[in-house]
Amino acid sequence: MEYVTMAEGLEFSRVVLGFWRLLDWNLSTDELIRYLEECLDLGITTMDHADIYGDYTVEEKFGEAMKKRPDLRDKMQIISKCGIVYKSETARVKYYNYGTDYIIGQVEKSLKYMGIDHLDTLLLHRPSPFMDPEEISRAFETLLKEGKVRTFGVSNFLPDEFRLLKSYLTVPLITNQIELSPLRMGNMENGVMNLCLEERIHPMLWSPLAGGRIFTGQGEEEIRLREVLEVIREEIGAEDIDEVAFGWLFSHPAKPIPITGSGEIGLAERPVKALKYRLTPEQWFMIWTAVKGHKVP
Ligand code: NAP
Repeated sequence: MEYVTMAEGLEFSRVVLGFWRLLDWNLSTDELIRYLEECLDLGITTMDHADIYGDYTVEEKFGEAMKKRPDLRDKMQIISKCGIVYKSETARVKYYNYGTDYIIGQVEKSLKYMGIDHLDTLLLHRPSPFMDPEEISRAFETLLKEGKVRTFGVSNFLPDEFRLLKSYLTVPLITNQIELSPLRMGNMENGVMNLCLEERIHPMLWSPLAGGRIFTGQGEEEIRLREVLEVIREEIGAEDIDEVAFGWLFSHPAKPIPITGSGEIGLAERPVKALKYRLTPEQWFMIWTAVKGHKVP
C-alpha cells in the first residue's frame, strides 16, 4: 500500500474504503468486523463516511462494529461529512445547513453513532449557495479546540468556492473529495484537478468506477471505454479492466486517492493491486479519447 501525507501527522492510505453502500453489503456486525480487518490487512486504513449515508443509519451500523472492537480505531483514519439535510418529516425540502451549531451538532452525532472520540477529517459535503464562511470558520475552530476533529476539507467544491472558503479559515483545507472516473471527467476540465495541484492537496475520488458502470454500461462511450481498457489491460498485464481504470487514476500528477465502494474483499483488493500500474501518456490519452469520442485538441 502507498500512504499519502494529508497534513502534519496524518496519512491516508492511497486506497480508501467508502461506506455509502454499506447497507447493500448486508453484513452482520461480526461480518463487518471481519471485512474491516481484511481491509486493514490490505493496508486500507482510511474510512470514508457521511452523516447521511444509509438515510442517516450507516455511521451507527459502523459504530456497532467499532464498539465491539475499539482496538481497531487506532489503526484507522476516519472521515465524515455533513451539510446535506434530506427531506423528511422534519425537513420540507432537501437543503444545506452550514451554520456553526449545526456543523458542531452533526459532528457530535457522528462521534456518538460511531463510538469514537474524534474524526481525523471532517468534509463539507457539497457547496451551498447559502453558506456563510464565518459560521463555518467558527465551527472548525471550536471542533479543533475541543479535539473532536483533527483536520478539515470539502467535497464537490469548484475552484472559486474552495478559494472563497479558504480565505475565511484559520485552518487548512486538506482535500477536495470529488467525482472522477474514466466515465466522469468533468473535474479534469473545470479546473478542480488543477486547483488541487495549485494547492498541493490530494483529491479524494468518489465513484472511481462510475458506480460499476465501467462494467455494466451499455452506452457507446462505455463500450468504447471497455475495448480500450481491454487493450491496455493486455499491454500492462493486469488481471481485469478495473485495475486499468484505477491505474489511469493513479497516474494523474495530483496523486488522487480513489475511494472503493465495494463490500467484497476480492474487489476492494483491485485498486490496491493497481497501485503498481502507471500508464504512459499515450495509454492515458487512449482512455480519454475513447470516452470523449474525439482526439485532444
Ligand atoms: P465505485 O467503486 O465506483 O462503485 C461501487 C460499485 O461498483 C459497487 O456496486 C460495486 O459492486 C461495483 N464494483 C464492481 N467492480 C468493482 C471493483 N473492482 N471495485 C469496487 N466496486 C466494484 O464507488 P461508489 O460506491 O460509487 O463510491 C465510493 C465511495 O465514494 C462511497 O462509498 C462514498 O464513501 C464516496 N462517495 C462520496 C460522494 C460525495 O459526494 N462526496 C458521493 C458518492 C460517493 P459490489 O456492490 O458488488 O461490490
